[in-house]
Amino acid sequence: MFDNPAFDAHERVVFAEDHESGLRAIVAVHSTRRGPGAGGCRFWHYRSSADALTDALRLSRGMSKNALAGLPLGGGKAVVMVERGQSKSPRLLEAFGRLVDSLEGRYITAEDVGATVSDMEVVATQTPYVSGLPRTAVDADGNPAPKTALGVYLGIKAAVQFQLGRSSLRGLTVGVQGLGGVGYALCGLLAAEGASLRVTDIRPETVQRVCKEFSALASLPNEILFERVDVLSPCALGAVFDSNTIPRVQATIIAGAANNQLATAADGARLHAAGVLYAPDYVINAGGIISVGREYLGGASLASIEAEIGKIPERLTEIFERSRAQNRPTSDIADEMAKRLITQA
Ligand code: NAD
Repeated sequence: MFDNPAFDAHERVVFAEDHESGLRAIVAVHSTRRGPGAGGCRFWHYRSSADALTDALRLSRGMSKNALAGLPLGGGKAVVMVERGQSKSPRLLEAFGRLVDSLEGRYITAEDVGATVSDMEVVATQTPYVSGLPRTAVDADGNPAPKTALGVYLGIKAAVQFQLGRSSLRGLTVGVQGLGGVGYALCGLLAAEGASLRVTDIRPETVQRVCKEFSALASLPNEILFERVDVLSPCALGAVFDSNTIPRVQATIIAGAANNQLATAADGARLHAAGVLYAPDYVINAGGIISVGREYLGGASLASIEAEIGKIPERLTEIFERSRAQNRPTSDIADEMAKRLITQA
């Protein structure tokens, strides 16, 4: 593990197996310097436990960079290894809740890929260190995906303004990869502004639904990266941009929710050299952590959360401007800004 390039001095990594429920999980806590390590839990079928570890470490390290969102939270993330077709039984979710509880607040969980609000409700029967829950007394609660989508939508507009000098998305084409919680809500916002959509998902029924509801055109899961679109918005899984895919990308803007879109740091430089404006993932997708973070910390309303999400475009524009002025990749600029905030804490 120490040799894993994503290890990056993680404070704590916990491996757990519970025979009774079938739980096999990894919780990675990258940094608690700014506050408890906060980040969702991903339920996914991994080819190997080594892949699961790498995913947990990369995701957790990425969450630390949410320092840029100004929250008093550190970085952490959990992955639960599920078999294909395995359902998330209450016993499995409860065992996961006990695992989170054993970290005594160093890690706060919430939804990520494969998790729902009702899953988190079961987790919450075992631990208070969970967010993304429906609470009737406050309006800052629940599924973070629509808030992430709002931030991505505003971020796309900022990128379009910067790169293309246009204040509206009307008449532009956006390619969306992944039509889950975030991708679906994003498509609704984009279509409402008059953008044309090219969409894909590995679940054909979801693609059909989005095509019907938003007059989108369907593409193939991996071909979407190479479509002739103005904006490419990866909203599925990470590591989509590497030395093989980047030369074939036709969009001049990449702005999506997926975590860890760049396979390696060198891929940020590749996109920059190719003239593609890349909105760093953890900056543009911060709406979700702003939502679950504020819900957990308490005292926020939906309006105050939306106001915080409304600052994502300014932050991105600052990164774009610095990138242009210094002729350096946006990903390097954002990493540097995040690192400074983490070490200062
Ligand atoms: P989700 O599980 O609801 O949806 C993911 C979708 O991607 C699913 O529909 C799945 O079928 C599809 N998919 C998986 N592999 C694919 C592939 N190769 N090609 C096309 N589609 C594929 O997850 P989500 O909550 O919408 O999150 C999407 C991404 O955004 C993830 O990378 C997640 O880590 C990131 N993110 C989510 C949030 C949030 O608030 N939910 C916040 C920040 C970042």
